[in-house]
Amino acid sequence: MNILVTGGLGFIGSHTVVELIESNHNVIIADNLSNSEIGVLDRIAQITNVKPKFYQINVTDKKAVEEIFKNNHIDGIIHFAGFKAVGESVENPLKYYHNNILSTIVLSELCLKYQVNKFVFSSSATVYGDQPSPLKEDMILLPTTNPYGETKAISERILKDISKANGNFSVCLLRYFNPVGAHKSSIIGENPKGIPNNLMPYITKVAKGDLPKLNIFGNDYDTSDGTGVRDFIHVVDLAKGHVKAIENMNSNVNIYNLGTGKGTSVLELVNAFIKCNNINIPYEIVERRPGDVAITFADASKAEKELGWKAELTIEDMVKNSWEYEKRLI
Ligand code: UDP
Repeated sequence: MNILVTGGLGFIGSHTVVELIESNHNVIIADNLSNSEIGVLDRIAQITNVKPKFYQINVTDKKAVEEIFKNNHIDGIIHFAGFKAVGESVENPLKYYHNNILSTIVLSELCLKYQVNKFVFSSSATVYGDQPSPLKEDMILLPTTNPYGETKAISERILKDISKANGNFSVCLLRYFNPVGAHKSSIIGENPKGIPNNLMPYITKVAKGDLPKLNIFGNDYDTSDGTGVRDFIHVVDLAKGHVKAIENMNSNVNIYNLGTGKGTSVLELVNAFIKCNNINIPYEIVERRPGDVAITFADASKAEKELGWKAELTIEDMVKNSWEYEKRLI
């Protein structure tokens, strides 16, 4: 298939591009480099021996996106491009609503106009709100605690409605849990700008000595060791889930959790990092972070049953690959 990947130079996008190419798909990337860098394109080429066609555009710019649709035959799109910093979304909600929702609308309009009938959307487990885990795809969606999460829930809703009204337009909503790790080549991975918000990039910066210590947000949750529990999934497994998803879109609306189905506590992850990489991570227990839930993990059985996809890489793979990648960054 010819697949347009928006945000294809970002963390999850770049790993998905690699897996698509390795499954013999032809990839076209649209990315405005707002949270990625152009060097990733060469590194994708280094891994796969294929340099995808690249458009440096903003996906909310309909005219620019239409040029891609006019000049390429596209069979399906995978839409990653979007802002994802939860805290920033609380401070600047309009930035998030404008960018994340308008991009979904622009791409959908062009899909209908150019008869592109496969749309895979990068959603998040945050749409479940604070419901007890394991989280299942048929649970109702609850309001999330921040505008970032709302943009995911609203985009899901928009895509479902469009699909209902347009018989041929198939959508796949992929709800991610906590992606970490990096490609085994160590040349692509997660490289957030500024001080990281997420746990794993924070740990790797502490390991490298760029940050003095990790703050663990609370050890008084009702969990085995008191720290939060999350479903960490290796980004390469997650990327492979996208390949399966776009290759198997068999109904109008397809919704899948992409997680491992297993919860790991913050402290367990930190200890696995220390042990596997043989490096110390100084940490301190601090106050809970507002908006955090105690436990989140997936019921990942639907993707396994319907797509034949299952996460295979372990917590050890995740902590090792994350550190290998970080060490190579200058
Ligand atoms: N966390 C932490 N210290 C950090 C960043 C995160 O203790 O510097 C915890 C956070 O409270 C949560 C877990 O790590 O329990 C995962 O947080 P992250 O921001 O990576 O992802 P989230 O689950 O919030 O989407």
